Amino acid sequence: MANKNCRVLFAMIMINNSHHTKRLSRLKAGEKPCLKFVSQFWECYNGGTMKVSELGEFGLIERLARMVDQAQKGPAISGRQIIIGIGDDAAAWQGDAANQLAAVDGFIQDVHFTLNGISWRELGWKALAPNLSDIAAMGGTAQYALIALALPNDTEVDDVTELYQGIIELANEYQVAIAGGDMSTAPLVAINITVIGRAPGQGKILTRRAAQPGDRIAVTGYLGTAAAGLEMLTKKLQFDPEAEATFRKAFLHPQPRIAEGQLLVKHGVKTAIDISDGLISDLNHILRASQAGARLEVDRIPIHPAVKANFGNKAIELALSGGEDYELLFTGSAEIINRVTAQAACPVTVIGEIEPGQVGKIGLVGKDGRPYQPGKAGWQHFVTE
Ligand SMILES: [Mg+2]
Repeated sequence: MANKNCRVLFAMIMINNSHHTKRLSRLKAGEKPCLKFVSQFWECYNGGTMKVSELGEFGLIERLARMVDQAQKGPAISGRQIIIGIGDDAAAWQGDAANQLAAVDGFIQDVHFTLNGISWRELGWKALAPNLSDIAAMGGTAQYALIALALPNDTEVDDVTELYQGIIELANEYQVAIAGGDMSTAPLVAINITVIGRAPGQGKILTRRAAQPGDRIAVTGYLGTAAAGLEMLTKKLQFDPEAEATFRKAFLHPQPRIAEGQLLVKHGVKTAIDISDGLISDLNHILRASQAGARLEVDRIPIHPAVKANFGNKAIELALSGGEDYELLFTGSAEIINRVTAQAACPVTVIGEIEPGQVGKIGLVGKDGRPYQPGKAGWQHFVTE
């Protein structure tokens, strides 16, 4: 049985492709149609969808370029000045900054994600988010993105356009112009995205290497919520709808802290990192780059009430070692942190202090000021003595 959607899709192929339209008229006149055309028709009419191999690399690029062009007109990416976009050997744009930032992130099926329990649109958003978060962690503005896709031949074209829809949604939210990319076939899905952005002024770029003993350690938002989402999806856990939505959003729809990164720069913060690997692991990056140690007050670590309510003792473990929250972890004097806290649109929590002493050592302190004894050993290996 043919379904309605397929008839519509078939009609769209006819309208969008004059080659096929001519073929259709010949078909009506009794001529023998080309095999590819028949297979596309048959796939559609029988409830299937077109595969990437049927549309071909160039057809797919053309379709995605049209999507980007339509979705990024006018105010969606105001201020970006693309001279040559998707479809040429390289992208060209009018630069507007002396100092620029670039970040690249690979997102490989069965290494960084699986296709179970995630929509292609969510995958698109989640593939771009780490790049924007990296730009946020430097205090910059994301401006342009280059997207390299590798796809199995039997990937459905509709899935790829959904993936792009997710990428475009996030890109448009932060006025990031999708300037170009690459397409190839591979046994698994791989999405490599490069983002170029504007750096804050000279000497204002946030780095991992400027933390000083006595600096307060602070964090935006909540920690461990994305890890709760990952647990929920991989272990098929069930919670009340509100908690499920919170966990799913944190894991699959993270919000890069671009505005907050710029707020840190404005108030004189020098040191920041985004939490992609987990609090302990990412704090360790700061400590090693800054040649310092730290004390963390475990009870101060901000954990979302839904994570506390549903994960019990495991909540702290998720907050300490769960990654992919894409919150900002930063350090600064008490006065600077107070100013940031007063102006930030999200919660900002002081969770500890940078200390002199053994490089990379993180002392976990409990409520009573005594060393915190973790209940589970799952994340202990992150603590470097
Ligand atoms: Mg990062």
